[in-house]
Amino acid sequence: MKTSGKPERHSLLQVRKLLETATGRHRADLLNELAAIVVQEDRREGGAISSQALDLSETQGYRAGRACALFGLGEAARLAGEYHVALEQYVQALSDFKVLGDSMQMGRCYRRLGDVQFYVNNLNLSLKHYLNALRIFEELSKKENSPEAKINCGHLMATIGNVLRDSGDLEGSLDYYRRCHSIYIRESFQAGIPGILHNTGNILQLQGNYGEALGMYMQSLEKAESAGDVYLTSMALSSIGSVYMDTEEPDTAADYFIRSLAVAEKSNRKRGILSATLKLVHLNRMQGNLKQALAYSKSAEKLAKELENRRDHADVLMEKALIYRGLRKYKQAFETSLAYQLLREEFLSEKRIRELDILRVRYETEAKELEIGQLRRDRTVQRRMIEGAVTGLVFAGISLVLAFRNVRFRKRANRELADAYSRVEKLSQLDTLTGLANRRAMMETINSEQTRSSRTGKSFGLIMADIDKFKQVNDRYGHACGDEVLVEVSRRLQSAFRKQDITSRWGGEEFLILLPETSLRGAVKVAEKTRALIADTPVLWNDKSLNITLTFGVSEGGAIPVDDAIQFADKALYKGKRNGRNRVESH
Ligand code: GH3
Ligand code: MG
Ligand code: MG
Repeated sequence: MKTSGKPERHSLLQVRKLLETATGRHRADLLNELAAIVVQEDRREGGAISSQALDLSETQGYRAGRACALFGLGEAARLAGEYHVALEQYVQALSDFKVLGDSMQMGRCYRRLGDVQFYVNNLNLSLKHYLNALRIFEELSKKENSPEAKINCGHLMATIGNVLRDSGDLEGSLDYYRRCHSIYIRESFQAGIPGILHNTGNILQLQGNYGEALGMYMQSLEKAESAGDVYLTSMALSSIGSVYMDTEEPDTAADYFIRSLAVAEKSNRKRGILSATLKLVHLNRMQGNLKQALAYSKSAEKLAKELENRRDHADVLMEKALIYRGLRKYKQAFETSLAYQLLREEFLSEKRIRELDILRVRYETEAKELEIGQLRRDRTVQRRMIEGAVTGLVFAGISLVLAFRNVRFRKRANRELADAYSRVEKLSQLDTLTGLANRRAMMETINSEQTRSSRTGKSFGLIMADIDKFKQVNDRYGHACGDEVLVEVSRRLQSAFRKQDITSRWGGEEFLILLPETSLRGAVKVAEKTRALIADTPVLWNDKSLNITLTFGVSEGGAIPVDDAIQFADKALYKGKRNGRNRVESH
């Protein structure tokens, strides 16, 4: 079965040329191919092309094209740092690829889901997705015996090793790095070897296993040098230096830092230069070479400013203040330490904001990711929960000072985040098929909206919607198809309503939607728009095109008891069914 909308690979020029004349599904494929190339350079442009591919695929009833386009939109959002948007797109692409039975693409979706969860520090979920991707790629590489699939398995093992490292499971991490390494060796994937050796060395060093760590870094260095990989050469030299620092052999350490600096300078890698210079500042200060340390600190400061790297900038100011103190230049010491304090304040408050942002994104990703479902709750509970978690993070931040790379801190921050996460998880009350809020969660939300309404005097809208003749869908095409339709309808309902509106699965094929601060007239309008949106676009299932309609019953809540408001919406719905279905009625 040819399911993937990813045919032969063309160059950018070829694709553009072919697009001049291509139409229909072929055009959609080409647009997807173009987007995949362009998004690497220009995420906006890439996203725009994916949108075109999406529209075209939908009008063509072309599911594979749509799935690739959704993936492309995910890529554009991910590269723009809009993680919850990216998640939503990847999840949608994944569900299409699942229906198409396209394993390779499913594996890619899982990997991206893992990446996004990793960026927002959702390590458990990230791990779950990566393991799914790995399982798929392992099956593929067995079935097809393709080197590419095998190397993909290796990449995933390295990535899983990183997740385990960040969750503090150093043994587990080491295990995955080793498995990755043996795959790279077996498949002669030279480009990956120095990196994985370096990562392995990091773990061994963290475990205090300096001898073995050094061995790994040395091997990494050798491979990186022979491959002409300057980045990893400079990294390996610097890491070797840091092992010698740990084993209190400062002179040898200095040699390696200087070599690392020279390699970075030769290839003009500013980050590498900064990192090696900072190490030399520290080392020279510790050895009492204050003049030399000061000289390095000045060039590091200049570079940190240029790169807008506040963390390193703060580090270097701290070092510089200590150097001035050692030189008995008290005025400069005072001024530098003041500058350090100010920068740190700025930096920490930014960090607080960033942590808050991470929690927000995490919360939103919980809400967006259909696999773990949709999370909708009272906003005050949400705010309180986030505030509680952030208070903890701020305390962790205050005790932080220079210890950003301190493992203990990282573990603690991870724990705080993990606690926040488990609270989110406990509070989730989701329908497993559609990911919408379930009936119980919805009831809670409506009750708190009622309370709010009695305070503000503003009414809210309720819409009860039921799929027309849904039994026939099951009867004709089977339950699997029925489930697909339910998922697709849920998705459309959600995209039709505003962000603040809450959609729930009330029963089998019945949905209840809450529209905060909305009048009856307003809710009727929204219902009508939504009705048309669903009725006008057939639902695709296994190359079949199904016309699905819903009937909507609308009521206004606030001034009357909640149960009555729900009952009125239900009554209006049944009026709609009696009056011929695919219509909106209100009470
Ligand atoms: P009407 O337009 O009057 O609503 O007709 P209908 O067939 O939609 O109504 P009816 O209530 O008779 O049938 C609803 C069907 O929905 C029956 C049930 O098998 C099916 N259903 C309920 N939940 C699920 C589900 O989770 N998956 C699937 N596939 N079907 C479901
Ligand atoms: Mg029905
Ligand atoms: Mg029903």
